[in-house]
Amino acid sequence: MPVSERVVIVGGGAIGLAAGYFLRREGADVVILERGQVGDAASRGNAGWITPALSAPIPAPGVRSYSLRNIVRPSSPLFIPPRFDPALTLWLWRFWRYCNRRDHQAGLAAMAELNLRTMPLFDELLKDEVKFSMWKSGLLFAFLTESGAEHELAALRELTKFGYDVPEVPLDSSAIRQLEPALSPRVSAGFLLAAERHVDPQTLTRGLADRLRDNNAVIHEHREVTGFETRGNRVVAALSHGERIETDQVLLAAGAWTNPLARKLGLNVPVQGAKGYSFTLRPETPPKHALYFGESKIGVSSYQDSTRVAGTMELSGLNERIHRRKVSSIAKQAQAYLGDWASGPMEDVWSGMRPLTYDGLPVIGKSAHYDNVYVSTGHAMLGITLAPATGEALAEFMITGRSPGVLRPFSPQRFPKSRRQSG
Ligand SMILES: Cc1cc2nc3c(=O)[nH]c(=O)nc-3n(C[C@H](O)[C@H](O)[C@H](O)COP(=O)(O)OP(=O)(O)OC[C@H]3O[C@@H](n4cnc5c(N)ncnc54)[C@H](O)[C@@H]3O)c2cc1C
Repeated sequence: MPVSERVVIVGGGAIGLAAGYFLRREGADVVILERGQVGDAASRGNAGWITPALSAPIPAPGVRSYSLRNIVRPSSPLFIPPRFDPALTLWLWRFWRYCNRRDHQAGLAAMAELNLRTMPLFDELLKDEVKFSMWKSGLLFAFLTESGAEHELAALRELTKFGYDVPEVPLDSSAIRQLEPALSPRVSAGFLLAAERHVDPQTLTRGLADRLRDNNAVIHEHREVTGFETRGNRVVAALSHGERIETDQVLLAAGAWTNPLARKLGLNVPVQGAKGYSFTLRPETPPKHALYFGESKIGVSSYQDSTRVAGTMELSGLNERIHRRKVSSIAKQAQAYLGDWASGPMEDVWSGMRPLTYDGLPVIGKSAHYDNVYVSTGHAMLGITLAPATGEALAEFMITGRSPGVLRPFSPQRFPKSRRQSG
């Protein structure tokens, strides 16, 4: 497209904002339409890890049998409350089919390659005066059992093929607690992935939005996209409660809500909302590292003056309802790794919907059917990590019309097509 053309981006989370940043940098006329406030959905209360080392897609060998044993147990890291939902049943059947070694390896390679740009791009954003808070203290894995640490390390060693540094052996209890005094004596082993980082995610989305506005992009908050006007194979305007916003290109980046939005164009983007929770503590001596608790799959990040505990994945439909029992269960499980200091009062109890596809890979690229509709969603547990790398590659695609090789495994056209509807 000629660079001066207008791109309407639907959704002002980390993914939409980062795409807008790179498109604007290339000279596109960017308009972001956000139905709430930018950065206020899944991109707000997450752990903010920047962790290319966690590139492995969620569907993996072993996940099928694990989930069959655990999904209806509310304290399980993956929880699916029993309910009648034929679309979810079909989605789960497809998810389970991707829990095999071949697809997992292919997905890991694709994600690891996309993530190669992640750390350089976070540094570039700071250099370009996108203001956000980032810590380079690494990601410390902690386990209650030595075998848990060994098992996880063996899985992570796959990443050395892609140039990532992974330690040879785990540290014992005393070495790991010397490294991170905030851990409890119940932690028996762990290891540090020293190259990983974390950000305060709210500062990242605010920083991107501020930079976009400084660069004359337009961000409309409280502007829900309710439909589209089409002409032939093109969308010519986004519609918001009767208002028409003309456009040359459209990017659907509405996170977990992208499927209902895409369906207005007859497109199939099979993302489920995979709900997670977080809450904030204010310890006197916060953990020095971002922490990952191996058995319970809970994450902890410390920011300026607070520590966030985040966890769980619940497939219960598109809703942000907070189940207090689930939050208490996360707190109790975290205390086993952190000790008594973590039983302090909880603040800012939050839930967010990760957009998750059944093959565990994001959906990034040009849609089927339309010449000027692109999609970027499905980043699951890595939407903050992958926002800049996705935004950069997608901007190249939208500006040149040619898909960069790194995006091919993520094409929206890999899914069964849904019936085309008129605008
Ligand atoms: C507990 C938890 C912990 C996490 N930890 C991490 C982590 O440490 N590191 C990491 O990389 N990722 C993490 N994630 C994942 C990450 O939060 C998500 O992948 C990421 O925020 C998704 O960004 P997004 O822009 O796609 O979606 P969102 O941030 O949800 O943004 C989508 C936006 O689209 C808007 N929208 C929807 N429909 C419409 C419409 N019709 N019109 C206009 N606007 C619309 C919504 O209001 C929303 O603002 C975590 C997630 C959770 C839940």
